[in-house]
Amino acid sequence: MRKGYFAWLLIFWLFSINCFAHITKGASHQQIESTATAQYLGNEAILFTHQKTKILFDPFFHKNFGIYQLVPEEIKKAIMSGTTPYNDIDAIFISHAHDDHFNAQEVADYLKRHSATKLFCSKQAAELLRPLVNRKIAEQQVVSITLNYQDKPWYKKFDKLIVEAVRIPHAGWPSRAEVENLVFRVTLNETATVMHMGDADPDDEHFIFHQNYWQKRFSHINFPPYWFYFSAEGRDILNTRVNAKNHVGIHVPVKVPSQLKKGNYQYFSEVTEQRKVILE
Ligand SMILES: [Zn+2]
Ligand SMILES: [Zn+2]
Repeated sequence: MRKGYFAWLLIFWLFSINCFAHITKGASHQQIESTATAQYLGNEAILFTHQKTKILFDPFFHKNFGIYQLVPEEIKKAIMSGTTPYNDIDAIFISHAHDDHFNAQEVADYLKRHSATKLFCSKQAAELLRPLVNRKIAEQQVVSITLNYQDKPWYKKFDKLIVEAVRIPHAGWPSRAEVENLVFRVTLNETATVMHMGDADPDDEHFIFHQNYWQKRFSHINFPPYWFYFSAEGRDILNTRVNAKNHVGIHVPVKVPSQLKKGNYQYFSEVTEQRKVILE
């Protein structure tokens, strides 16, 4: 009788341990799934990671015009050689073909070394890249996006990524209207959505036109150029138009404008600075 009682107690104890292990494993697994990470690399360069999926925005450029933050040489080398955490990059996104966002030669060198990485860029950037890469790279890795002002947004689904893009004019519009500036909205593992606005112009005329597009998908984090914070219209676009939970300003000068420091704004200015992005 007593023996039987102990045997049952033992079985119950083993069962509880097993359950507890499952619960804790489940919780930590859920925790990993419910966060993504953004790391700042300079100017508008960002590494965004969800689980094992990694993407880069505007990582290769040379010019800072004496104002902006370059990607430090050692980080550039680490990206180029695929050193952790810059290994196994699924895709690179280029907002536009300006020298403080894009260097065709470096991007070409990267694609040669990392044949599994895709590149998403405007037709303008793809044309600069074309003479520097072979046909195989051009066909298999480079995704050239042709978008005109107020065109229907671009959409493509890949295995781990949903890539959407809309052409929003470059800041200073209507001057520089020829620059193909792309606002990307990328969803990783159908779970984490990030938006990168390049050098977008903070005029609601560009954004209201795509009202349905913004409403169609919620972004967990958005990276606007910091000048959106400096006008009521820019702030309205962020807060009421683009359907994003958090905004972190980028393209911030090395000498951070005092207006930005004083305001209650989120922005990146320190290279390797990170943000955890809660996915809910
Ligand atoms: Zn630009
Ligand atoms: Zn720029």
